[in-house]
Amino acid sequence: MAEKICVAVRVRPSISEESPSGTFWKIEDNRISLHKLHCTPISGLSYAFDHVFDESCSNSKVYELLTKDVIHAAVDGFNGTAFAYGQTSSGKTFTMNGSLNDPGIIHRAVNDVFQKIQMISDREFLIRVSYMEIYNEEINDLFAVENQKLPIHESLERGIFVVGLREEIVNNAEQVIKLLESGEVTFPTVNRHFGETNMNARSSRSHTIFRMVIESKGIDTGSGDYSSSDAIRVSVLNLVDLAGSERIAKTGAGGVRLKEGKYINKSLMVLGNVINKLSNGAKQRAHIPYRDSKLTRILQTALGENAKTSIICTVAPEEVHVEETKGTLQFASRAKRITNCAQVNEILTDAALLKRQQLEIEDLRRKLQYELEREKLEMELEEERRSHKEREQCIRDQQLKIENLSSLVSDGDRSSSQRSNYSELPDFSPVPDSFSNVADEDTWFKMNKGYIADLDSLQTTPARKVQSFPPQDITPSKHEEEVQINSRLMGEISELKQELDLSNNSLESSKQRYGNLEREFQKLKDERDSLLQTVSESSKNITFLTDQKENILKDLNCEVQRRKDLEAEIKQFSVAFASRQRSLASIHGEFKSKIEKLRAENLVGY
Ligand code: ADP
Ligand code: MG
Repeated sequence: MAEKICVAVRVRPSISEESPSGTFWKIEDNRISLHKLHCTPISGLSYAFDHVFDESCSNSKVYELLTKDVIHAAVDGFNGTAFAYGQTSSGKTFTMNGSLNDPGIIHRAVNDVFQKIQMISDREFLIRVSYMEIYNEEINDLFAVENQKLPIHESLERGIFVVGLREEIVNNAEQVIKLLESGEVTFPTVNRHFGETNMNARSSRSHTIFRMVIESKGIDTGSGDYSSSDAIRVSVLNLVDLAGSERIAKTGAGGVRLKEGKYINKSLMVLGNVINKLSNGAKQRAHIPYRDSKLTRILQTALGENAKTSIICTVAPEEVHVEETKGTLQFASRAKRITNCAQVNEILTDAALLKRQQLEIEDLRRKLQYELEREKLEMELEEERRSHKEREQCIRDQQLKIENLSSLVSDGDRSSSQRSNYSELPDFSPVPDSFSNVADEDTWFKMNKGYIADLDSLQTTPARKVQSFPPQDITPSKHEEEVQINSRLMGEISELKQELDLSNNSLESSKQRYGNLEREFQKLKDERDSLLQTVSESSKNITFLTDQKENILKDLNCEVQRRKDLEAEIKQFSVAFASRQRSLASIHGEFKSKIEKLRAENLVGY
């Protein structure tokens, strides 16, 4: 269904203390008009929009009245874009990023999306976010500083996309807020790559696009309804903080500013052109110059084609900004005329990541299946090759055997004919069946015209006789017989071969057993040797010890004898000593009595 783009104007609170001297903007309901001081509106400068928010309006109210529908539609599968357009310092960033007390549109949209998808139980969602800036017509990744000057590509599969832009898959609002913060972007906007002042200056010269890609798929209820469970919806939601719309070049800026100004002017001009063309109605929509700037190219799907769009035009109330405000309001009026024809992106192409992942999985599964089958086939082929080779070998063996047998048989023929003079016999004299068991010499005599055959040899060589016929004389029955004999012989040969194989196998195993036994025997021998060694060493020790013991015993006996001798000597000595003592005692007594006698004599002499 065709619907107009939702356009609102937001007037920020006045920053300067000065009160207006000539004109002022008056807001009544959804209308904003320039008034002469204490007077009526100036004609031609009164604009009506979907909403006009005065300076007391909060971000919460702006979100509720202007953006919420776009966000909810995005969850339902519609592309959506919310722009903030206006001159520098008119409140674009305040509206998009908000303040700590009053979070902006991005913050609210993120919360809202996750709240809403939690309430939808019959679909599963996959959400990706990215954040980029377009500065001097170059795209830089605000989530990854290293991703600078990224190109735009277009493919059937993915549509228009920025190559190399980091896309984060997110599961909850907090994760997104953290990403925005860690991406050095905080609320309100402070990109820490640049000094704050620097950033403010830069942010007014770059467009920033926060993008959410919402994919959803009906949860398979098992109803088998292929179309409803398989349909994947992909919607892209852009939240865009545009560069300042004031005409910098006009203010006489030079150098970098002039360059920046040219790019801003160019891209906003292209945006204006695109909006103009779109607003001119379907008839003149032949060529929309989306490709003229990166901004319009990136936002192409969200502008006029298949999207719900809301534009918030921020204006400054001060008199000094009247001209810029007029410009902004004119842009807003043109935008108001755009009709969009939004429809759910129920999808179809392989653009959906979910779909792509599914396809990839299917592809991998197919490849795996293919690999498995290939392996199986290879194995079968190998098997086939082997059996073919075996068959060939078998055939060769058989041929060889047949040749050997044939030569054997003809050799045998030659030798037997030499032995029994068969060559003199008529070529062929078939014996009637009834005679086959008859070993009657008379009959043989008659039948063979007096020739007496060697009956023993005749009975044991029927096959040889048949074999000796030249090939052209072989009748079918003979040939069959030959084949039978051959096959019997071959059977015997193969049996023999099998036996030989078996013998070889048993020989092999015997060899192995023999080897094992020999090893064991060697081991035992070694053990025995070492035991013998130990025993001989032990017996040596024993002999040595016995010798030692004997010596000791000898010594001991000697000692005992010596002791005995000594004892005898002591006895003798003590006897001698006692007699000597006695004789000494008697001498002593004699001597004593002599002295007393002398003494007594002496005393008498005096
Ligand atoms: P822009 O992004 O358009 O250059 P900003 O959002 O940075 O402008 O706003 C400029 C100044 O005005 C900032 O200090 C901001 O906090 C303040 N401001 C803008 N709009 C509002 C508003 N509606 N209410 C309160 N303060 C505002
Ligand atoms: Mg800003």
